[in-house]
Amino acid sequence: MSLYALVDCNNFYASCERVFAPSLIGRPVVVLSNNDGCVIARSDEAKAVGVPMGAPLHEYEALMKKNGVAIFSSNYALYGDMSARVMRSLNHFTPDVEIYSIDEAFLGLSGFDEAILPDHMQRMRRAIRQWTGIPVSVGIAPTKTLAKLANRIAKKYTSDGVYMMTDPDLMPRILGDIEVEEIWGISKRWGARLRQLGIGTALQLQRASPRQVRQALSVIGERIVHELNGHSCLTIEEVQPKQSIMSSRSFGKMVSDCTSLEEAVASYTARAAEKLRRQDSRAGGLYVFLRTNRFRKDDPQYSNAAMVGFDEATSDTATLIRAAVTCIRQLYRPGFRYHKTGVMLTDLTTRDGGQMSLLNTDPNRDETRHAQDQRMAVLDHINSKMGQGTLFHATEGLTTPSKMNPEHGRFGRRIQGHDRWRMRAQFKSPAYTTRWSDLVLVKV
Ligand SMILES: [Mg+2]
Repeated sequence: MSLYALVDCNNFYASCERVFAPSLIGRPVVVLSNNDGCVIARSDEAKAVGVPMGAPLHEYEALMKKNGVAIFSSNYALYGDMSARVMRSLNHFTPDVEIYSIDEAFLGLSGFDEAILPDHMQRMRRAIRQWTGIPVSVGIAPTKTLAKLANRIAKKYTSDGVYMMTDPDLMPRILGDIEVEEIWGISKRWGARLRQLGIGTALQLQRASPRQVRQALSVIGERIVHELNGHSCLTIEEVQPKQSIMSSRSFGKMVSDCTSLEEAVASYTARAAEKLRRQDSRAGGLYVFLRTNRFRKDDPQYSNAAMVGFDEATSDTATLIRAAVTCIRQLYRPGFRYHKTGVMLTDLTTRDGGQMSLLNTDPNRDETRHAQDQRMAVLDHINSKMGQGTLFHATEGLTTPSKMNPEHGRFGRRIQGHDRWRMRAQFKSPAYTTRWSDLVLVKV
C-alpha cells in the first residue's frame, strides 16, 4: 500500500514566536494581523483562556492582559524563514515533499516499509523540533484526504503527535465521528448540500454513491468519496488550503535564471489574485517558495521560502506581484536548476472586513482602495472576455507604477503606508533569522 503523511506545524505563528523567546513556552501567546487588528494565531494556552480566532485586539486586550497573554504583531519575515527551515528538514526524511501551505506539507511515502513508518515519522518529528524549534503533528494514511484526518487525530488525541490510520477495522468508528465539513475540500456550502442528502459524517460520505455526490457537488466531490475509500486521486492543486490561496507549478524544464522565475511567480500571483477577488477576499500576507528537484540526486540542492505582510489586506494584483517579485529576488541564488516555485496568499479576510480599516486614518484610504478595486474589476472583466494572455500584459503594465499612474506616485504611497504599518506593529518580535542586527545574543 502506498501511503501519504500530512505534516502540520502546531499553532505555527505562535510557535515561531516561542522559538526565540523560550520563556513563552507554557504561556499563552497570540499573533495579530496587519496593523495589530485582530488575532490570527493562538497557542493552545491562549485558546484555553478563551481568546477566539479573529478576536479584535481592542475588545480582548483586557482579557488577554488579565491572563498574561503574550501579544505579538505579525512578523512575516520570521514565519517565512521558519517555514523554509521546516520544509528543508522534511527533505532529510523523504525526497517526496509537496508544500501545501506555509505550515503544511504532504509527504509521499511509497517505498517505505509500513511497519517502521510510525517510528520514522516520530524521528522526523523530534528532529524538526530539535533543528527548528517548531512542534509538528503527523498523520499517515493511504490517501491525502485520510492523511488530513489522521493529522487531526494526531493533534487532538495522541501524546506523541503521530497517528497512522491504516487499520480497516478502526476506520468506520473514526469516520463516524467526523463531520463532513471537517473533511479536506468540503466547504460549508458543500456540507449543507450533502446534509440535504442525509450525508452528515465522513462515514456516510465514504459509503455514499460517488455518482450522486458528483451530481450534488462536482467531480472533486466524487474524488473525495474515492479518497475516503483509500483510492488516491486528488492533487493538492485541486483543494485549496483554508484561509489561503495557493498557486504553484513544477516547471516543464529546469529554470536557472532569475528573470524566468520572476515571470513565473508574477503569473502565479496574478492567477491567485484572480481567485482571491472571485471569492471576495483580501490577503494579509504573501508567501513564496522556490526549490530544486530533490529526485535529481546529482544536482546541487537548494530550497527556500520568504513571506511578507501588507500594511493593509489587499486584493490588488500590482501590489501582490510587487511583493512576490521582491521575495523571489531575495530567494534566488545562481548556479541551481530550479524545478518548482509557488505563491500563496495567506491570512485572508473578507473584502469589506478586517479590523485595520477601523484603525487606518489615511484620509485618501477609501479612494485608493476604491481605485484599486475598480482597476481590478476592469482587469478581471477583460480577462474573462478576452482570455488569459491579456492578463499577462496588464500585470506587466501594472508593475511599472510610473507608467500607470504618474501623478499618484504609488511608490510614495507605499513608503507612507510602510511607515504607518511600522507604527501599528508595536508588539513585533525581532527578525531573528533574517537580519544580522536582530541575532539572539548568548551570554556566557
Ligand atoms: Mg498548522
